[in-house]
Amino acid sequence: MPLTDARTHEVLNQPPPFEDVNVFEADLALGEGLEREGAGWAVDRVRDCGAVAGSAEAQEHGRRAERNTPRLVTHDRYGHRVDRVELDPSWHWLLRGAVEREIHALPWREPRPGAHVARAALELLWTQANAGVMCPVSMSYAAVPTLRTDPELAAEWEPRLTLRDYERGALCGMAMTEKQGGSDVRAGTTRALPAGDGTYELTGHKWFCSHPTGTVFLVLAQAPGGLSCFVVARGPGFEIQRLKDKLGTRSLASGEVELRGVPGRLLGEEGRGVATIIEMVTHTRLDCIVGSAAGMRRGVAEAVHHARHRSAFGARLAEQPLMVNVLADLAVESEAATASALRLARAYDADDKPLRRFGTAVMKYWICKRATPHAAEALECLGGNGYVEESPMPRLLRDAPLNGIWEGSGNVISLDVLRALAREPDGPPAFLAECERGRGADRRLDAHLDALPATLGALAGEDGQWLARRVIEDLALAFQGSLLVRHTPPAVADAFCAGRLGEARGRLFGTLPRGVDGPAIAERALAV
Ligand SMILES: Cc1cc2nc3c(=O)[nH]c(=O)nc-3n(C[C@H](O)[C@H](O)[C@H](O)COP(=O)(O)OP(=O)(O)OC[C@H]3O[C@@H](n4cnc5c(N)ncnc54)[C@H](O)[C@@H]3O)c2cc1C
Repeated sequence: MPLTDARTHEVLNQPPPFEDVNVFEADLALGEGLEREGAGWAVDRVRDCGAVAGSAEAQEHGRRAERNTPRLVTHDRYGHRVDRVELDPSWHWLLRGAVEREIHALPWREPRPGAHVARAALELLWTQANAGVMCPVSMSYAAVPTLRTDPELAAEWEPRLTLRDYERGALCGMAMTEKQGGSDVRAGTTRALPAGDGTYELTGHKWFCSHPTGTVFLVLAQAPGGLSCFVVARGPGFEIQRLKDKLGTRSLASGEVELRGVPGRLLGEEGRGVATIIEMVTHTRLDCIVGSAAGMRRGVAEAVHHARHRSAFGARLAEQPLMVNVLADLAVESEAATASALRLARAYDADDKPLRRFGTAVMKYWICKRATPHAAEALECLGGNGYVEESPMPRLLRDAPLNGIWEGSGNVISLDVLRALAREPDGPPAFLAECERGRGADRRLDAHLDALPATLGALAGEDGQWLARRVIEDLALAFQGSLLVRHTPPAVADAFCAGRLGEARGRLFGTLPRGVDGPAIAERALAV
């Protein structure tokens, strides 16, 4: 018998794990947005997706796929090139789950109003299980409109790319980036030589190629007529050199690839590679927005859940004004991102090209940039528990910067907005018209809208590049403010306008001014 009672402590004041929660039902902003943007018909399937994505099982698969990172096997034991990537069974569970829920193909399989919105909602939920698997899902979704520019290639690939069958279907990747240039794809050196039979032979390297075990890729290469887009099926001559050791999305294999005379089929015209692949890029940019909204949503849910169950200095964290300000501010940001993502997805449903192209660029810039500080602040709400790897927060934080880099990093998106302003006259008016729909509901938003035309005008001058980030920020805030004043409870809209617009806006999260109804916002943020 020990002389003293050897027990050191009971486990007290620790929240239960945030698991086996239907992450759709917990997210009022998502449910309301789904109805509002024309996808109410999909509510049952989105709810089912939310139940599985938030289950303990899916969360464990998400953790495991991230921990057991992909391993490249270039050769078999006899020295033959095999270019295989060993992936954890959890990766397959997650990717199969996405394919079976048609997140890779819903609008192409079921082209009905609201299909892009429904897909965005499904993506927003499944990303909360694991963000890495959504990369091939997104690229496959995005490839279809580009493939459709060539009926023959579309007839060959679309049926496989849109199959709801993980084993028999195909997934698509894209290979644009080379060592000497990722943003500046025109610097690409991969060559495409006509083979004489209507196909081309591609030779060169690609510095980033995610999911290199996909079935087919859209590849940029220099043909005799200039930079062109090719459809390349993976096969002999498509070699994976190594996998990237990445900061985040560690479940996802991102490879360096060598193309050694691999056959490719021209998509679009020679010399029009960027113009051809731009539809794919626009769709993946939408997914960058949805993915960042998903990360923010998960961060808010975890933070609110923790604060509701954890006490410090004699009271629940969720009842202490400093914490309520942080939670409410994070929740407002997340709701603004979700509302923007779904509104933009509707522009894809309605084939509203001007809003789609310009709005996607502006909002991709802003929402993807907000994701990283948001994740860091949400992590801090969990204190030390948020910093350990058993918690999902480190993964959220590591994953967050990716969407900002991929498909146009901040400056490159800004240049794209400048280009659109100069060359696509329909885009800015369509975007401003959407913002104007919110006029009259809040004087701070009205003042912000009043200033926008002059702000935009400044971009046309020689200081355009210097000013671009600031102006795009103002445009994005107008878009979000307009959505929130029209569609969210007064507390959320008021907090957004008070905390984001005008000179009084705070710099960090948790700086909402006096008078904002923080408790109501924090309550709405997690409906469980
Ligand atoms: C995890 C991951 C997966 C990826 N998967 C793929 C994939 O599957 N396929 C693929 O093709 N690529 C992929 N990429 C590559 C990605 O698209 C590029 O990294 C990205 O386009 C940036 O290109 P870069 O790395 O060459 O950077 P650079 O183009 O060199 O840019 C470096 C910095 O300079 C800035 N910059 C560039 N031009 C200007 C300018 N004119 N003025 C001011 N600033 C400028 C950029 O904003 C950036 O901040 C992936 C990247 C990551 C991290």
